[in-house]
Amino acid sequence: MLPVDLHAHSNVSDGMLPPREVVARAHGRGCKLFALTDHDDVRGLADAAAEAASLGMRFVPGVEVSVSWRKHTLHIVGLGFDPAHPALLAGLASVRQGRDERAVRMDEALAAVGVTGVLAGARKFADNPEMIGRAHFARHLIERGLAKDMKGVFKKYLARGKPGYVSHQWASMEDAVGWIRAAGGVAVIAHPGRYEFGKQTMGELIEEFKAAGGEGIEVVSGSHNPADFDRFARLAEMHGLLASAGTDYHATGEGAREPGVLPDMPPGPVPVWSRWVDAATLAN
Ligand code: AMP
Ligand code: MN
Ligand code: MN
Ligand code: MN
Repeated sequence: MLPVDLHAHSNVSDGMLPPREVVARAHGRGCKLFALTDHDDVRGLADAAAEAASLGMRFVPGVEVSVSWRKHTLHIVGLGFDPAHPALLAGLASVRQGRDERAVRMDEALAAVGVTGVLAGARKFADNPEMIGRAHFARHLIERGLAKDMKGVFKKYLARGKPGYVSHQWASMEDAVGWIRAAGGVAVIAHPGRYEFGKQTMGELIEEFKAAGGEGIEVVSGSHNPADFDRFARLAEMHGLLASAGTDYHATGEGAREPGVLPDMPPGPVPVWSRWVDAATLAN
């Protein structure tokens, strides 16, 4: 097992636990190197870093930026940046700004199919009012008995093509990578296995990402199966990208993975954490 988790959420975005509790849970499972990567916001990092320090666990500042690329929505994880960098903070604030307006359109779209009053319910799940997202809508719809779990509610209401889905313009990939780089961080393509791109499109994404200054890709992810681990390890090697690993933990009982530990990285690519720790630190 790999005592590393470089992708996890707290209630600063769409996770359920406060940052300190996510960190403590990861540490309790044996994690030695952890990054909190909330969507479009870094306001959990100070608490997370303080908790990690008190537990003696290595901590890397993180964020997961929402990006529009061609007709797709992608996520770019930033790691190891200065969380106070003004360009990064301004960029993330601009991404968050669109979320409320999108939430109103989602509410209207659901009302049009007879599911009314959803925004008010979703807001109760959004502990950070600037960071309302589809997971908050999902939890409210489940609470109302309109679906039985996260997978079901996305499939029925919230995934692309479903009644509650509205298109939205997020950051450009160049901007997202640029903010992360300006703040001294490493940009990583999050959970590439989720995008269902063919070889050609994935190759084009990676080349554009690298041209923008991107350096890494998630290989071991809570969103990937073992075949994906091998596939993206090969792609990382082939394109000279650093390989990352993260659970994408949101809440216990939602999704399979608890935070903190992952299956081993396939041999081959250079791990992104070689930037911050040597192999002996993780082996001990
Ligand atoms: P948003 O950024 O508001 O569009 O929400 C994206 C978030 O919704 C992801 O980070 C996941 O937390 C959640 N999500 C998206 N698709 C699914 C799915 N099929 N099942 C469960 N959660 C999902
Ligand atoms: Mn999420
Ligand atoms: Mn994501
Ligand atoms: Mn995530």
